[in-house]
Amino acid sequence: MPDAAWDEDQDAAAMLHRLRGVAGVRKLRLLACACARARWSGLALDACRAGVEIAERHADGQATDAELKAASEEVFAELFGVDTGDPRANLIADRCTRELVVEAATGALAAYSGDAAAMVREIFADPSMRLSTLTRDEAVLAVARQIYDARDFARLPELADLLVAAGCTHAAALAHLRGPGPHYRGCWALDAVLGKGQGAPVFTEIQWYTASRPFVMLHWWDYWREPLSPRKLRLLAVACCRLRWRDLARFGLEQAVQTAEEFADDLVDSGALERAHEPARRLRDSIAATLGAMSAEDAGRDELRNAWQAHLVVASLTEPDPGGLDSARHHSARDTDDAGQAELIRELLGNPFKPARIAPSWLTWRSGAIVELARAIYQKHDFVLVPRLADQLRAAGCRDSELLEHLQQNRGHVRGCWALDAILGKQ
Ligand SMILES: [Zn+2]
Ligand SMILES: [Zn+2]
Repeated sequence: MPDAAWDEDQDAAAMLHRLRGVAGVRKLRLLACACARARWSGLALDACRAGVEIAERHADGQATDAELKAASEEVFAELFGVDTGDPRANLIADRCTRELVVEAATGALAAYSGDAAAMVREIFADPSMRLSTLTRDEAVLAVARQIYDARDFARLPELADLLVAAGCTHAAALAHLRGPGPHYRGCWALDAVLGKGQGAPVFTEIQWYTASRPFVMLHWWDYWREPLSPRKLRLLAVACCRLRWRDLARFGLEQAVQTAEEFADDLVDSGALERAHEPARRLRDSIAATLGAMSAEDAGRDELRNAWQAHLVVASLTEPDPGGLDSARHHSARDTDDAGQAELIRELLGNPFKPARIAPSWLTWRSGAIVELARAIYQKHDFVLVPRLADQLRAAGCRDSELLEHLQQNRGHVRGCWALDAILGKQ
């Protein structure tokens, strides 16, 4: 389906999706803050208002990450259990201060009960529009800066008159400045006058390859590409389980993990998955019984905590509903570093900026030898043979260095490997 015309689109989330690669952290943060400004009178708590102000300053490089984090904690603490003001407005303030700027923008838009699409149009110009420098006239720029700093947006029509007098002919920008608004910091037309940009990209390729927080990586992926398929989600969880295989084996859960892996590829039915869920349930019941008989100082509590963790992971893994899998990943704390899991995410998902492209001629090379080898590796977990795929692909004419380099590695591959999946046409 073609995109709706920018002016008429009513789907704010789809509009944000279209802005991937265009929208930077400054604009996304200001979009969240604009939603809060639109509900300013509902923000009854000082901490909420202060949080929005800090988020706005952060967008323009005038507040540090540490200040934003402190503001976020303060807003959260203030909001806990209170019912002052407009709850939706307070929720928007909470979203504004979120560290991850996409979460801030989408969260604020979701909580904003007004015309969310109009809000996106206030902050972002039509992506198909050409915008160059609107004026270099110092006097006009001085007025624009005053308006921005004082949030004196009622003066925007006056600014439009000054722009025309200085020779500006950009009809869309002039019409926007003269329009009814409401306008906010980040207004695309005022930003265009001031030469203010998008800010840094949401994330870069280098950040992707050096990231170590699984939560953040999956969040980026969902924004940039699309939510993971239930198969990938389950295989990722399985691969993460294999990182702590000994723990799981100790609690008798390894067969359940293997069944979940097979279920991901439709090799067993949901009945088998349900039966695989049983050991996790039994473990949970036995933990509950043991815990009841234990004193708070008992040395066995650490072991129980491990068991509880193992049960949680495997219980969600053997949950037929992929929604359960998705919520399971949110249990992993967003601040937690885990280099092993981060590596697995890169192994399963590849490079978000460069989806793998497989030429049909590689797949038909020597009567399908490459696909045949890939399938055998996959079925037998024979991942030491993966480098042979790189040799064959090269012989078939492949020059994709990212794909070849990945396959050349003789370790670290698992079911769900992005390169193998690309060859096998799996999602
Ligand atoms: Zn505006
Ligand atoms: Zn791999």
